Amino acid sequence: YGDGIFEGIRFYNKRVFRLEDHMDRLYNCSHYLLLDIPYTQEELSNAVCETVAASGLNDGYIRLVVTRGGNLGLNPFNCKRSCVFIIADKISLYDPDVYENGLALITSSVRRNRPDTVCPQVKSLNYLNNILAKMEAVRQGAAEALMLNDLGNVAECTGDNIFIVKDGTVFTPPVTDGCLDGITRRVVLEICRELQIPAQEKTMNRFTITCADECFLTGTAAECVPVTKLDGYQLGSGKIGPVTARILARFQELAQTTGTSC
Ligand code: PMP
Repeated sequence: YGDGIFEGIRFYNKRVFRLEDHMDRLYNCSHYLLLDIPYTQEELSNAVCETVAASGLNDGYIRLVVTRGGNLGLNPFNCKRSCVFIIADKISLYDPDVYENGLALITSSVRRNRPDTVCPQVKSLNYLNNILAKMEAVRQGAAEALMLNDLGNVAECTGDNIFIVKDGTVFTPPVTDGCLDGITRRVVLEICRELQIPAQEKTMNRFTITCADECFLTGTAAECVPVTKLDGYQLGSGKIGPVTARILARFQELAQTTGTSC
């Protein structure tokens, strides 16, 4: 039934990036879904580290999944024990070329879930809307789709948060417009504070994006990806913008030098 939650977490040089933030989000989502995780947050964090160590990889991606457990019927309280598994692997979402030359997006006809349905702040296993939007993008030759909320405002992409730069200020939609409270999104907002780049949350529509000077996406798997086209419109110069480049560089530095050692 999609009745579960997950996290995607990256590790660099055997250090897990923002482990505590990912764990906090997982446990908040489990609380909301009344989905009991049969381990303490500390035990599960240790299990993530053990998985990284056992993988033998220096850099990679962890997929942590919690499912409700088996039961033929909708009543979740009939499930005896939830099931947790952790995978460590390599991941590359987009062609390496897009990190140099930018990604082309399309706007999906599939709307992001309304917050009063499957709330987009819950990183649940119910990703069917996102999958439908992703299929629409791929079938049109685009690697990612912009998803709007039911008011027609920008929510996020199928698996990434979205940012624009306009007149030197960085903007991203507030979580209440229907996006996940992305950990990479938070890191980028922190970087803006550190580099004294003005940044704020703002409701945006397609017009705002098409008129942006720069645009980029953030996500654990994707990291920071410049976007240079939306529905065939060129965004800004059509190349990675200067503000995006500064943020990307600082993000890479933080990813390579910080994190929980395993
Ligand atoms: N939005 C959605 C729908 C996602 O699934 C994800 C994670 N892949 C993100 C945004 C980015 O979140 P994070 O930076 O925490 O990976």
